[in-house]
Amino acid sequence: MEFSSILFPGMDDKRPLVIAGPCSAETEEQVMTTARQLAAIGIKIFRAGIWKPRTKPGGFEGVGSPGLKWLQRVKKETGMYTTTEVATEKHVYEALKYGVDILWIGARTTANPFAVQEIANTLIGVDIPVLIKNPVNPDVELWVGAIERLYNAGITRLAAIHRGFSSADKNVYRNTPQWHIPIELKRRFPDLPIFCDPSHMGGKRSMIQSLSQQAMDLNYSGLIIESHCSPDEAWSDKDQQVTPEELDRILHSLVIRDTIQ
Ligand code: PEP
Ligand code: MN
Repeated sequence: MEFSSILFPGMDDKRPLVIAGPCSAETEEQVMTTARQLAAIGIKIFRAGIWKPRTKPGGFEGVGSPGLKWLQRVKKETGMYTTTEVATEKHVYEALKYGVDILWIGARTTANPFAVQEIANTLIGVDIPVLIKNPVNPDVELWVGAIERLYNAGITRLAAIHRGFSSADKNVYRNTPQWHIPIELKRRFPDLPIFCDPSHMGGKRSMIQSLSQQAMDLNYSGLIIESHCSPDEAWSDKDQQVTPEELDRILHSLVIRDTIQ
């Protein structure tokens, strides 16, 4: 399989390529304030969940389509690319209609081949980058299968996101990294860029720096980090979001070595 070497036009391949933004788009003000602060520290790609796949019912499930207009405004006013999670055909149509630049497939969706195939079929003939998170369970074949489904639909601007894996055993991580699994993925697809999501891996702010450094030491291409203008008030994943100011400190602390491939 041959992946396109240029994921996002106009961007160089200096590591790490950083995607940042809140877990969820909550209000227009929260989205715009966070986006302006992130643009000011040099972030080029803004993330925000519009549709949120919650493990249990009763939680905040995202603002839905009205939030797409806020992402349009982010792009227009800050020049950042935008990305959001899609899990159904309808999400894909809506995201494309409002000009979202990059799509990502969430961990719960990657574990569901029917949903991945539905997304892939909807993207036939569309040229857009797609980031594929690992499935919630530590099964590299499901991750490989999702990448193949998108690739077979003609998507060549693909990247993987390693966000850690669910485990029944309690440990310090929200989702255990199990670094050998993405290493196996890289063995299968040497040219596929891999991003690390230290926010969902650690589940807490204090772990973002060290997990990001580990990803850099393993030669990952980029990071996707949850950042919110007021993390303690976030409507989802509040313990793991950092302010743009804190994100800037974390990024500056990273030591980027050119490791042997
Ligand atoms: C998210 O990125 O906010 C999210 C829901 O992530 P994951 O699919 O990794 O749980
Ligand atoms: Mn989240």
